[in-house]
Amino acid sequence: MNAEIIAVGTELLLGDTINTNAAFLSQELASLGINVYRHTVVGDNMTRLKSAYSEAFARCDLVITTGGLGPTADDITKEAAAAYFGLDMELDDNSLANIAAFFARIGQKMTENNRKQAIFPTGAKILDNFAGTAPGCIIEANGKICILLPGPPGEMKAMYSHHISDFLAQFSTGILFSRTLHMVGIGESAMEQRVADILAEQSNPTVAPYATGRPGETILRISAKAADQAAARALIDPVANLLYQRLGDYIYGEDDATLAGTVVELLKQRGLTLAIAESITGGQLAGAIVDVPGASAVFNEGVVTYSNEAKTRSLGVLPDTLRKYGAVSPQVAEEMAAGAAKTAGANIAISTTGIAGPDGGTAQKPVGLTYIGLWFNGRCQAKELRLFGNRQRIRQRAVSHALDMIRKELSNI
Ligand code: AMP
Ligand code: MG
Repeated sequence: MNAEIIAVGTELLLGDTINTNAAFLSQELASLGINVYRHTVVGDNMTRLKSAYSEAFARCDLVITTGGLGPTADDITKEAAAAYFGLDMELDDNSLANIAAFFARIGQKMTENNRKQAIFPTGAKILDNFAGTAPGCIIEANGKICILLPGPPGEMKAMYSHHISDFLAQFSTGILFSRTLHMVGIGESAMEQRVADILAEQSNPTVAPYATGRPGETILRISAKAADQAAARALIDPVANLLYQRLGDYIYGEDDATLAGTVVELLKQRGLTLAIAESITGGQLAGAIVDVPGASAVFNEGVVTYSNEAKTRSLGVLPDTLRKYGAVSPQVAEEMAAGAAKTAGANIAISTTGIAGPDGGTAQKPVGLTYIGLWFNGRCQAKELRLFGNRQRIRQRAVSHALDMIRKELSNI
């Protein structure tokens, strides 16, 4: 079955609200194997909404709308659907009683315009709203199905899971199942080049690179259509194995994994504790580790030593080293890491020092030059990075490189 989604609301067209409802519904329908071929966004306008229905139903058999079920005059999604299908509108006593009960429960007076929320196209199957007042409905007419859901995402999702996912399961021809491989330390184009032949060959499963908001990271999503999850996995797994052969060193985890979460897990598995000494990242590296639930099992201590004086006082970086090589140098990065390991009594320590910009760069030490220091088992090493982007991006990239350096050390990559 082919479907389209129509999101109704002028606030969406104005850019005040992001159309997250369409994203949610698309993911749900994909997991049922129902093809979503178009998303439409239309304002609260009867003429344009009616033509959105006609256009969508000219192409497909199932339309799901969100928004415009509320009590105010601009909420006209039901009225437009009734007009499109040629149906009358009638009051549903049961819905009216539910809405009245909702207001009684929250101790507020029900206003007259709330009655509007209990009026539906004749013959529609009415869907209770457990999270708010506006009920939704399903209209089945002329061989078409139209599902009307409320706009507020919490109400829409609750209604979908209570009423719609089971209803739609009858049309499911299988499922779409995915495995997502998260990579760090390789750019999107370099990654694509290594697997171009695999990307080109596939039809089921499909393999697609996705941009991720996470700096320095890339994603490959392998998706298969099949009768059930086990069958989908059987299609996906051999392709995933091929991708691991080509990109294994860069893949840090799958699906919901995060880089910091992977690092915490590796430290836990090896029974190691971590100390962090930060300059350029100013606490973001410690923040990323602490974001992971259960980080306390492995994270001892983090310090932000921004001035030279602080690097010496808190971490024992030698004034001589600072004078000779400067604060942004491999020598200082190593002494910072060694000092952090010693003061915290940790098994492994990581440090960051660099020039975040926009000022402060020189020909020898340009903006973006960053050193990550790592101390492990009494051995020190420093990695030089030439990072790009604005101040914020440079600092975020430094965080992901630092996390990746720990990951590589602990996975012996
Ligand atoms: P409505 O039911 O049209 O009155 O919508 C109520 C509220 O739900 C809007 O003000 C938005 O905050 C939210 N909303 C409506 N449509 C969407 C959508 N497609 N995605 C996310 N939020 C939405
Ligand atoms: Mg609205």
